[in-house]
Amino acid sequence: MSINKVGLSITETSGKKSLSIYIHIPFCGSKCAYCSFVSVVGSPEDKKRYFAALLTEISIQSKKYREFYSVSSIYIGGGTPSCMDYYLIRDLLSNIYKNFAVKNSAEITIELNPNTVDKTKIREYILSGVNRFSIGLQSTSSKILKAMGRTHTVEDYEELVGIIKDYGIKNISTDIIIGYPGQKLVDVKDTIDYLISLEIPHISVYMLSVEEGTRLKKLVDNGSVGLPDEDLVIQMYNEVYDRLSDEGYTRYEFSNFSLPTFESFHNRVYWNRKDYLGMGLAAHSYIDGTRFANTENIIEYARELETNKTLPVSMSKTLSDDEKKEEMIMLSLRTKDGFDINEYKRLFNENFLAKKKEKLTMLITEGYMLLTPENRLVCTDKGFLVLNRIVLDLID
Ligand code: SF4
Repeated sequence: MSINKVGLSITETSGKKSLSIYIHIPFCGSKCAYCSFVSVVGSPEDKKRYFAALLTEISIQSKKYREFYSVSSIYIGGGTPSCMDYYLIRDLLSNIYKNFAVKNSAEITIELNPNTVDKTKIREYILSGVNRFSIGLQSTSSKILKAMGRTHTVEDYEELVGIIKDYGIKNISTDIIIGYPGQKLVDVKDTIDYLISLEIPHISVYMLSVEEGTRLKKLVDNGSVGLPDEDLVIQMYNEVYDRLSDEGYTRYEFSNFSLPTFESFHNRVYWNRKDYLGMGLAAHSYIDGTRFANTENIIEYARELETNKTLPVSMSKTLSDDEKKEEMIMLSLRTKDGFDINEYKRLFNENFLAKKKEKLTMLITEGYMLLTPENRLVCTDKGFLVLNRIVLDLID
């Protein structure tokens, strides 16, 4: 089954800078045990009020950026965007198309949780221009899903994948978590094998990080659950890497694996420090060397936009050259393309190889890094396992 987008006027543009848009939808059906994202359950009135404020923010921001930028990707994340009524997402996207110059070729992603979507919603998303779906599965173990507080089953996930594929969309990403309390190596193997069997072309693999303020943090602190030891988590990661590599997936970033042509354009914008505009509660932006973020307080967010028609920005910082250099090292070394020495020279007029000669010689000699013929520094498999240490060494 395939359908055509209707009712949208998407402009192809030229001569403008590229912009990516992130939209945060801060609502979920319930709160997962490990979750520290800015998300609430929210009433239908809260959601309507939030969307009205969000549309006001889009209109204000478009006046600043529309003239200079065309939009290459849109990512609707959360929270759980798919727990919203579909017409709110449709209105959101048509509002973006009206207010910004969005390229015909733009990658448009929406995050889904399996038991929050049906055929109608998927169809409406596609008609609204969505061409990539990112699904939170996390694990195929029902025991682990329960411990995480996830409310869906593996069957729900499989049904959703089937619906999306029936509409002819192959561009599906799936998130999984490794290192969860109680998770065994075999659980991770089963999850990866399952995703391979469903031919999911993009898989994001996140190592659990226990965050302040979460239910999981309390359980760990009071000894109710224990975290798996570091060696086991590394074994899990290696298992994922080996299995996916065998099946033709590329690790194009430390946590992201894809089959050829399925790398996420939007994700690469973050790692390559390109311009992106985040709108919605707690959304972060990076434009022309300045990072800024919206308030995390949902009442304040709505009030600022409703009453004052002002942007609810709570933080703004123009990065110094030193901060830009640190970010470049930190973000680029996570990627398969690595750190571009020529670009560093162009941006900062410094020779990175000469500046870090001793450390780089040691890292390359000991097999943690490679210098490619294109003058890029790339972590080896061995290097990826001690990535944080390498980054610290090179930032120092
Ligand atoms: S669905 Fe995602 S955003 Fe919502 S509570 Fe769970 S982890 Fe957090």
